[in-house]
Amino acid sequence: MIERDARGLVAAITVLLSFVALVALAAAVATRPEPEVRAPSVVSIDAGIERVDAGAAEVAPTPRVEVPYALDDLPRDGAQLAEGCPEVPLVDHAGDPVPWRPALRVHPALVPAVRALERAIVETAILTYHRAPIRILSASSHRCRTMRGNPTRISEHALGNAVDLRGIVLDEGEEITIRDHWSATGEDAIHVRFWHALVRRMIDEQSFRGIVGPPRADHLDHLHFDHGRSRFTDVELP
Ligand SMILES: [Zn+2]
Repeated sequence: MIERDARGLVAAITVLLSFVALVALAAAVATRPEPEVRAPSVVSIDAGIERVDAGAAEVAPTPRVEVPYALDDLPRDGAQLAEGCPEVPLVDHAGDPVPWRPALRVHPALVPAVRALERAIVETAILTYHRAPIRILSASSHRCRTMRGNPTRISEHALGNAVDLRGIVLDEGEEITIRDHWSATGEDAIHVRFWHALVRRMIDEQSFRGIVGPPRADHLDHLHFDHGRSRFTDVELP
């Protein structure tokens, strides 16, 4: 009876051990094929890269939609100047609170952008010099002419759609100009910071579509701002 029980126990243990062995084997089979486990993860990495690329394409910046501007539809061919200046409304703009010298003569549609430039000049001067300028020096505003170096196109100046800034007067007798202080060194390096901060702000704000300045040979002494039909920036900060 005892012997039979012992045999039964051995048989039960054998069955149990066999079962454990089978489970272990099954587990080993389930986890063994590492290559198969790794392979899908590699594929998913590749797929991930593709998704990133596809995602980047999907979120690429959409083309700028320009807000229509009053002068966009006016012709720009240079030949029209043979008939005289384009007939456009013009206003005198003295500048407020800091006056322009000479005062500007521009198309009324350009006035908001000119005001944005005035604000940028005053605020950048306060940040740089801790005071506003007493005057802003212009080099040109309305002027009936073709583009520099391209007689087939009229200048935006001919439409009153551009202003040229040549400097500021910080205190009586102290002129800070692009000609003298665009890339000044030593004690005058503070003026370089002023001009560069101003240009960076105007580029960021986009209140004008066109900004031209040094080192262009014909713009070494002024910054040109216009609201022509296309956006461009042709100025280099040294
Ligand atoms: Zn100009």
